[in-house]
Amino acid sequence: MVSSDQLPKNYDFAEVEERWRGTWRDEDHYFDKNSKKPQYVIDTPPPYPTGNFHIGNALNWCYIDFFARYKRMKGYNVMFPQGWDCHGLPTEVKVEELNHITKNDVSREEFRRMCHELTEKNISLMRITLRKMAFSVDWSNEYITMMPEYYGKTQLSFLRMQKGGYIYQSEHPVNFCIRCETAIAFAEVAYDDRETQLNYFDFDGVEIATTRPELLAACVAVAVHPADERYHHLKDKKMNVPLFGHDVPVVQDEAVDPAFGSGAVMICTFGDKQDVHWWKQHNLALRKAIDRQGIMTGIAGKYKGMNTSACRDAILADMKSQNILKRQEKLAQRVGACWRCKTPIEILSERQWFVKIKPDEIQKAAHEITWYPEHMLRRMENWVEQMEWDWCISRQRIFATPIPVWFCTKCGEMIMPDEKDLPVDPTLVQPNHACEKCGNTEFLGESDVLDTWMDSSISVLKVTGWDGSGKPPYFPAQIRPQGHDIIRTWAFYTILRSVALTGQKPWEEILVNGMVLGEDGFKMSKSRGNIIVPEEILGKYGADALRQWAAMGAATGSDIMFNWNDVVAASRFQTKMWNIAKFALIQLEKEGYDPHAPVTALADRWLLVRLSDTIQQVSEAMEGYQFDTALKAIREFAWEVLADNYIELVKGRLYTGEASRKSALLVLHTAFDALCKMLAPFTPYFAEECYSHLHKGASVHKQPWVSFTYDDESARSEGNLLAKLVSEVRKYKHDSGLALNAPLGRVTIYAPHTVDDEGDTGRTLNAEVHWRTDAAKLDRVITGIDFNRAIIGPAFRKQAQAFMTAVTALPQNQLENPPKTIILEGNEVEIPKDAFAPKFSCMEEGAKVDVIAVGDVIVTIAKA
Ligand SMILES: [Zn+2]
Ligand SMILES: [Zn+2]
Repeated sequence: MVSSDQLPKNYDFAEVEERWRGTWRDEDHYFDKNSKKPQYVIDTPPPYPTGNFHIGNALNWCYIDFFARYKRMKGYNVMFPQGWDCHGLPTEVKVEELNHITKNDVSREEFRRMCHELTEKNISLMRITLRKMAFSVDWSNEYITMMPEYYGKTQLSFLRMQKGGYIYQSEHPVNFCIRCETAIAFAEVAYDDRETQLNYFDFDGVEIATTRPELLAACVAVAVHPADERYHHLKDKKMNVPLFGHDVPVVQDEAVDPAFGSGAVMICTFGDKQDVHWWKQHNLALRKAIDRQGIMTGIAGKYKGMNTSACRDAILADMKSQNILKRQEKLAQRVGACWRCKTPIEILSERQWFVKIKPDEIQKAAHEITWYPEHMLRRMENWVEQMEWDWCISRQRIFATPIPVWFCTKCGEMIMPDEKDLPVDPTLVQPNHACEKCGNTEFLGESDVLDTWMDSSISVLKVTGWDGSGKPPYFPAQIRPQGHDIIRTWAFYTILRSVALTGQKPWEEILVNGMVLGEDGFKMSKSRGNIIVPEEILGKYGADALRQWAAMGAATGSDIMFNWNDVVAASRFQTKMWNIAKFALIQLEKEGYDPHAPVTALADRWLLVRLSDTIQQVSEAMEGYQFDTALKAIREFAWEVLADNYIELVKGRLYTGEASRKSALLVLHTAFDALCKMLAPFTPYFAEECYSHLHKGASVHKQPWVSFTYDDESARSEGNLLAKLVSEVRKYKHDSGLALNAPLGRVTIYAPHTVDDEGDTGRTLNAEVHWRTDAAKLDRVITGIDFNRAIIGPAFRKQAQAFMTAVTALPQNQLENPPKTIILEGNEVEIPKDAFAPKFSCMEEGAKVDVIAVGDVIVTIAKA
């Protein structure tokens, strides 16, 4: 602690932030299992450990930390856990890159170990950024999904859902990435617009158009619209597939568009989702022409072994040489691609594991949750409404939670481990008993692994203490904060899993944040070069400035554009606040403050009313997670009301030691104390620094939320007037080239009623101030003339001076209403438009005064 008059002149964020980081203790943020306070459990998103905590994460975590700190101050027992969602393809790909290997070059265990090692390193890097940002994370509730204690729970949830009839395996068409060699879920398909070629060819006498001739080997039917008379003769007939020679049925389906091409389409297994639909609907054969590596299979005949694009070229060439390719045209198309590697997906029929989707259950739970902002619920509804397929949860990869299942090598019976034996890797260990069906003791472990969303969709169960026995002790959580980009994945899967495993909604509220766009308004990307790294902002302006940017950037839920100016403005606000702090601390230290001093002066009562209004506004905004509204109100109060108006008004009273000095000190203390508390969630370092000076080392983060209220309607309206008057007169002084503390002479304020300002106005303006309620008696006189030389010069040339002399000689009334002409050296000449304007002055009781109107209040100033 330094004495107030030794406070550093400038606020050094780097020194302050580092000092407090070294002082704060993790234990202060632990969730207290024995607490009697109401719980507030946050289902924090577990980021993917890339090693970089990016700006989008930073925005999300700022929101979380704002309300975590606020709720603690409001008396809640808060859990702000930190998870890490480790499994998945990006880490596998990175490990392959870093070690110059492919996953098949080393054993599964060795590959897993390499992924573990990289993940651990990345997590420690990201923890550092989290700490610098002052996020009040509960590190006693950290979880890492690749650790046995977590993925054991993922496996337990798998077993439970399998028993509950939610999980099944079957051969079914799934989205498949042939580059990553794994199935992927619908939510992982990224759609891209691209141009492709539509090929028209003769299909056994009927023209058919296709963008994927390589799938001809997989053709299983031709479909036409039932009302299309052109094809009535084909009803119940078979058609012969060109180049391949197999026969396929003709089916009729309402979904065929008779206006597209010839109105006849081929159905292949599988070109797209519509093919899957028809294939099921009409109970068609399955022909697998493409394998998991994207290579043509045996049924492709002479094209066997080619990749799909080579096959396409070969088939088109053969169609040409057989004269069945009629024409080709360009077609704009939306193509589904792998979210990770952008390879167009294939739809392959594969034995996979699925989770059943029960749309009604999910809709019901989604509607029991309060959504912030409300319209985000609509996105969830839309997604659930368009669900057609179940969730494919199996992946053909390595770094993921193993599916805990074996198959008997003799009879094929499926064997599940005992729950007490979890976690297990069925590719490494065998079941501890013989096959119950046939007594065989040899088993094949399932080598497929689980989709990472199977891990992260039980984060809420993990943090609320789920162990499989009944309802978890802290379930449901109070809130889920997350981005709108993962509503259809993380939010959707979490609701699905919570309902399946507990029968209840996972959280009471969900708070959805927007995306951070680059300074150019586009999504941040390496190729655009518009990526902003939090560490860069931390280094230049500190965590508190970055946090203010997050709060102020946009309304909750909206996308937010990064802007360095906002960060600079945030840092300027801290400078301004630091100046207020120094002023207040020095004044308070001189005399101390008396908490029982009577507050009498209008300015003092006014400040308390405005403070009370601000506290109410900020508290309401915090309850509704409207951080931009809250911080804006705080900044406006601090900057405009307190610094620019109040402090200017009472400075004189504080310096001259008037009787009501104590009243001003109490008000200053009350306002400054409240500001520290309201700023604590937003700028934890800055608020702590100020508060510890004000309260001899006490921490603002252990204080309750500010509850001060004050009501005085006449102080509000009269004080607003007073503040406005003073600022207008100060502006007048500035515009007249006077120093703000220069003596001003006599100021008369003609107001509807007099105001007792205890002399504050006079001291602030350095003037003799009189309040009057009668009407101002002012006479208007012309005291000069403004000549417009730009007009007079060209119009009169050598006679310009004579013209001005003649005008000056005009009588008062003609100056006000100038005649059309004037006599100049004996000649009558026209007066050009706007050649001159009279200058008016006001006279009050015989003295010249300047006049300012503030609403219906007239202020006259007779300069000293
Ligand atoms: Zn891929
Ligand atoms: Zn068996």
